[in-house]
Amino acid sequence: MEQTFIMIKPDGVQRGLIGEIICRFEKKGFTLKGLKLMSVERAFAEKHYEDLSAKPFFGGLVEYIISGPVVAMVWEGKGVVATGRKLIGATNPLASEPGTIRGDFAIDIGRNVIHGSDSVASASKEIALWFPDGTVNWQSTVHPWIYE
Ligand code: UDP
Ligand code: MG
Repeated sequence: MEQTFIMIKPDGVQRGLIGEIICRFEKKGFTLKGLKLMSVERAFAEKHYEDLSAKPFFGGLVEYIISGPVVAMVWEGKGVVATGRKLIGATNPLASEPGTIRGDFAIDIGRNVIHGSDSVASASKEIALWFPDGTVNWQSTVHPWIYE
């Protein structure tokens, strides 16, 4: 089953949005397979965002990610990468639809509350980086009530 990496960024943690964000993924029917609150070092944040290292906002982005604890998660389900991105909304919160996480809870692009993998390939790379010891192997008992 497909998995994605979701991170609640330091602003989301500081603003008390952890429960709200987990709620949205849970209620959709996705399954939580890994979860930890952690602070990351600069080198780790740079590694996570290495594809963006040439961008002018890279320095500020890394400062933002290391500015406080983050919640790292692995969510599983059919189509969870693309649908997770839909639940999150557009990168710029002012362009995110109401009803999405960024659309409901953020304004500035550099304080957009949450990260989600953009493809199945980057999801597996990010899960390996953030959960080197693996995730939890379990299946929810409501599985047959969500999948036909
Ligand atoms: N970002 C920024 N300024 C920009 C573009 C992106 O500060 O002009 C930040 C923003 O926090 C975004 C992150 O860099 O979430 C990663 O950018 P990406 O294009 O991968 O957006 P995402 O996949 O998070 O929607
Ligand atoms: Mg991205």
